[in-house]
Formats: sequence, structure tokens, C-alpha cells
Amino acid sequence: MLRLAIQKSGRLSEDSLNLIRECGISFLSASYKLKTEATNFPLEILYLRDDDIPGYVQDGVADLGIVGQNVLVEAGFPGLEVEGLGFSKCRLSLAVPRAAAYDSIENLQGVNIATSYPRILGDYLAERGVKANLHTISGSVEIAPSIGLAEAICDIVSSGSTLLGNGLREVETVFRSEAVLIAHQNLSPEKQELLEQLQFRMQAVRRARR
Ligand code: ATP
Ligand code: ZN
Repeated sequence: MLRLAIQKSGRLSEDSLNLIRECGISFLSASYKLKTEATNFPLEILYLRDDDIPGYVQDGVADLGIVGQNVLVEAGFPGLEVEGLGFSKCRLSLAVPRAAAYDSIENLQGVNIATSYPRILGDYLAERGVKANLHTISGSVEIAPSIGLAEAICDIVSSGSTLLGNGLREVETVFRSEAVLIAHQNLSPEKQELLEQLQFRMQAVRRARR
């Protein structure tokens, strides 16, 4: 039996459950449950916080997972990715206060930047020769400039309205993300075969949606 970890409740949850159902896999879902077993495919679904999913799949506690590429890469396990799923598209961007002068990434030299993505941002800045002071905070990153914690932020953006509402403007796109299917690196041949069946169905669902 394959174990698939998905987000318990959040922006990935509904689309993840819909994708599994559209693959013709039936299961009872109860929001208070931590796991459910499918009735017509050898699959067990685990409901977890998205941040925990890459580590569980890396360790083999779960065989498969559905998670944002942003969370996967930040966790340090990009090699677990099997395929893009086309939903939960968003980007990780740098933003500065609307009135701040900004003409290039060089302006961030020595600046304090608040983010929940120190690894992705650190790599991005290092590739461009920029040394900034990264302050890692886990939520409400966009208020950091207004409370004097940082002069810039790097956070997830989809429409930009949260940035505008906090008096910020987007200046650089650091990373583009979508939901991805991830898999443990050393699946047994039986599980590998089930994964291929599941991928075949997922690809058919995506073709039918287009
Ligand atoms: P958890 O409680 O599981 O830790 P969370 O608060 O970290 O949840 P969500 O806000 O539910 O996470 O976002 C989950 C993922 O959805 C993000 O990591 C990202 O890949 C994607 N995402 C985030 N914001 C958006 C958005 N505005 N539009 C589309 N996708 C988004
Ligand atoms: Zn999370």
C-alpha cells in the first residue's frame, strides 16, 4: 500500500483531494482524521502540515507527497520532485516599501530582509553577489518593514494585493512555484509500480482538464 501525504488544511488541500478523486480513487474524508484509506486503490492518505511533508517523504515515513515547490526546495530536498501538478501557482518575491528607492538588486547590499524562505533567498542573493542580513520569521512577513524589523521582505505573492495593502511594492521575482508530486527515493518495486499507475491517472486527469 502506498502512503501519500497531503496538506491537512490550507491552500493545497482542496486541489490535492480533488486530483486524487478525479483519478477515480474513492475514500471517506473526515476533516478531524489524520489518515484515511482508499476503498478502490492501495492508497493511504496522511493529512499533515505542508512544512512536514518533504521530510516525511525523504525519510520514507510517507512514500509520496503533494507540496508546493517553494516548501520542497526550502526544505532542501528538490530531488524528490516527480512531476508538476499545475495548481497552487504562486511566486516568491522581494518587496520594498512603496516610497523606497530601488533600481537593482545591488540596492539590497547590507539590507535587513525578513523572510520565511532563508535558503531560497540566500541562494538567490549569493548567485548575484549580494550580501544581506536575512531575518527568518514564520508568518506575517509583510508587516516587518512597518514595524522596523526589516527594510525589505521576501514572501509568497499571488495577486499582489497583500503587498499593496501593507504599502509594499514587488521588485524582484525570486522563485516560481506550483504544487508538485514528490516521492521517496528508494521505493520498493511494488510501490514504484503503484506510483506509475497513479502518475498515469494524474496525467490523464490533467489532459482531460485542458
Ligand atoms: P500549514 O498550516 O499546512 O503549514 P501554510 O499556512 O504554511 O499551511 P498555505 O498558506 O496553506 O500554507 O499555503 C500552502 C502552499 O500553497 C504554499 O506553500 C504555496 O506553495 C501555495 N500558495 C501560497 N499562497 C498562495 C496563493 N496566494 N495562491 C496560490 N498558491 C499559494
Ligand atoms: Zn506551512
